[in-house]
This record gives sequence, structure tokens and C-alpha cells, in this order.
Amino acid sequence: MSADRFDIVIVGGGIMGVAIAYFLTIDPAFAGRVLVVERDPTLARAATARSWGGIRQQFSTPENIAMSLYGTDFLRRAPQLLATADDPVDLGFVEAGYLFLASPDGIATLRDNRATATALGAAIAWLDPAALALRFPWLSVEDIAAGTLGLANEGWFDPTALHGAFRRKARAQGAVFRKAELVAIERVRARIDAVRLDDGARIACGMLVGAAGPWSGTLATLAGCALPVAPRRRSTFVFDCREKIAGAPLTIDPTGVAFRPEGAHFLAIVSPPADADPEGDDAADVDIAPDFDLFEATIWPVLARRVPAFAAIKLVRAWGGFYDYNAFDQNALIGPHPDVANFMLCTGFSGHGIQQAPAAGRAVAELILHGRFATLDLAAFAPARIAANRPLRERNVV
Ligand SMILES: Cc1cc2nc3c(=O)[nH]c(=O)nc-3n(C[C@H](O)[C@H](O)[C@H](O)COP(=O)(O)OP(=O)(O)OC[C@H]3O[C@@H](n4cnc5c(N)ncnc54)[C@H](O)[C@@H]3O)c2cc1C
Repeated sequence: MSADRFDIVIVGGGIMGVAIAYFLTIDPAFAGRVLVVERDPTLARAATARSWGGIRQQFSTPENIAMSLYGTDFLRRAPQLLATADDPVDLGFVEAGYLFLASPDGIATLRDNRATATALGAAIAWLDPAALALRFPWLSVEDIAAGTLGLANEGWFDPTALHGAFRRKARAQGAVFRKAELVAIERVRARIDAVRLDDGARIACGMLVGAAGPWSGTLATLAGCALPVAPRRRSTFVFDCREKIAGAPLTIDPTGVAFRPEGAHFLAIVSPPADADPEGDDAADVDIAPDFDLFEATIWPVLARRVPAFAAIKLVRAWGGFYDYNAFDQNALIGPHPDVANFMLCTGFSGHGIQQAPAAGRAVAELILHGRFATLDLAAFAPARIAANRPLRERNVV
């Protein structure tokens, strides 16, 4: 059995793990060793590889808006910040906006969310049905009371490109990556001493960072803690529309069905209702199958009603993926676990983690190295809110 020691062990090499490794190793205050443990470096089942890469400012939680504004700024600077000698960075950022549509009973929430985002510096247009019809002639608006459109800093980018760029840069800065599964955690009272890997290694650590995405609840169990983060399946459908639909933003129907262009095709998704949204099948050898019934029964009828040209679409392909779903309040958990001081959590993003990875990675590095948030105050995401039963509910989960 091999013995080793790292100051910081990060479990999970998805977007959170690599972002944290990057921000730790770029900080001049860090002189230690960091290890990222990832059981499947191809990320075949990871949320990161299944993501839409959307970034928006239209949230109900002010901290989420601030994180995404930071995220857009980081994306713009990424080609300079993340390039390595051999690899330029192109994140394919399409700044086409998010369009949230509201029926009459959703208009108050739409107005509140816009006011919150605008107060934090986001540029969000308020469009009445006439303005919507003028700007998006392909949209059917008779049952729509209003829409809000992000005019800047919203759209989508390539999540795999951002992940690869963070990983390469973190490695170039000294982070060590290891393909292994963390299978046990040695905890003595309120501290973690070491972790054990499935290749037989025992790694002593000063701090364990939990960035295990949808599997964060399982990881916490190994540390003897409870955490309400589990996989929830989300199905993406890729379709072709013969008619040309120009300039579509990422559009969210009042039903929750969302679509956006992807090259010559479109993507569509919906979160199932709470009573039809069980924990995802965690078995590692089973592919995450898309839920075709959801497409037939819910998504396609909504698409055809909202965009008449979508009545004649052709389904091209589909994939399933897991949200890293925080069942407590659908918001991130960033900070130490209240029962284990050297167990730092960065998880539970519930469908908005890709865009928040730069801000979250930086925040976790600041907490570890300086003991406080310096760039953005993300204290609202402290995991301690669960035991205190103080939910920070995000109303705008897509
Ligand atoms: C269909 C879909 C669409 C999405 N769209 C968006 C979007 O438009 N915008 C947005 O911001 N976000 C979106 N998200 C959410 C976003 O992708 C996630 O929040 C984000 O990728 C989470 O990153 P992560 O690193 O925490 O988790 P993951 O990417 O899942 O990485 C976790 C990693 O931990 C590893 N791991 C777990 N346990 C262990 C262990 N014991 N030992 C070793 N390794 C372990 C896993 O193998 C995995 O690779 C979407 C997600 C899905 C599924």
C-alpha cells in the first residue's frame, strides 16, 4: 500500500474540481500540494460533459447574479488567463441572451427577478407582447403577458472547452491529477486525516474538498455526514427545424420548457414536475438514458405551440445527464461542512454550475488560503444553513 500526503485533496475532476485547482495554484499565497482525484477523466457521466453551457443573470438570488456576472467577465478574459504554451483557448461564447416568458400569473415574479438583476448591474429588457412579436416574429405570444431578455453577458459557451482549459492550466501550475475513485475517508472526531482510493493508496490530507457533483451526497456519507445533494436526471433533445429561425435566444416558456439554437439544430429540455423527479440511477455501468416520454408528452407540444415552425421538427438525437441537485433549496453549497472543519464543499448547483464555476472556484480557493471571501461574498451559500433550516431558495431554476 502506498502512502502519500497532499495539503489539499479535491474529489471530483469536473468543472468545480478543476476550477478550484486552478485558483489555488495561481494564488501566490499557496505553497502547498494539491491533488485532484477523478475516477473517470473522460467525464462520461459527469454533469459537466452533459451541460448546455448556459450563462445568465436572470436569477432570484442576488449572489447567483453576482456569480454569473463574474463568470461572463472571466469567460471574456479566459483566452489570456487560461492559455498554455501549446493550447490556445476558444470557449465559443455566443452572447444571444436568455428570454424568460411569463403568462399573466407569472408576471409579478418576472418583474421582481428583473428588478433584482438590474439593481446588480445586469442589462435586462422588459418586452410586452407587441415588442416580443416585433423582435421575434417566429414566436407565438397570444397567451404571454411579458418577457425579459438579457441584452448583454448572457448566452452559452462550450463547457468542455472551459473544463479542458482549467485542467491544463491547473496542471501547468503544479496541480496533480490522479485517476482513481475515493472509496473511504478516515475521520477522527471533527477532522479528516486521510482518504483511501480504489487503487489501494492512502493519501493523508490537510483538507478535503468535496466537488463530486451529483455524487456529493454519497461522498458526504463516506465522511459520516449527511448532504442533500443527489443526481436528478435531465434529458436533452436535439432537433432540426426546416424553417429558418434567426437570432433565437435561450428561450424559457412559462411551462419551464427551454430551447436554444446549437449550430444548425436546436436543443430542448424541461425539468420534470417534483412528483415525477426521483433520484437518478447511480449505477456506474448504466448509461443515463434520456426520457423520451417527456419529449412526446410535454416538450414537443409546448415547442409546437410556442413556435409554430416547431410543429414540423425532426428529432436528431438525445442524451441524459444528472443535475447536481440540492434538494434543500436548489442553490450552491460553498464552504466548510459544519461538522467537519477541514471538509470544504463546493456542490449542489442544481443546474447552474457551469456558469458559476469561475466564481465558485475562486471563492473556495480564497476560503482555503485566506479564511474569508475576498472577491465575492458568498457567505449566503454556507452549508450550515441546512442544519439551521434557513433555505436560500432560487426561484429561477431552469
Ligand atoms: C443536461 C444539463 C444541462 C445543464 N445546463 C447548464 C447550463 O446551461 N448552465 C449551467 O450553468 N449549468 C448547467 N448544468 C449544470 C452544470 O453542468 C453542473 O452544475 C456542473 O457541471 C457541476 O460540476 P461539478 O464539477 O460539480 O460536477 P460533475 O461535472 O458531475 O463532476 C463531478 C465529478 O466527480 C467525480 N466523482 C464523484 N465521486 C467520486 C469519487 N468518490 N471518487 C472520484 N471521483 C468522483 C465524478 O466522476 C465526476 O466526474 C447542466 C447540467 C445538465 C446535466
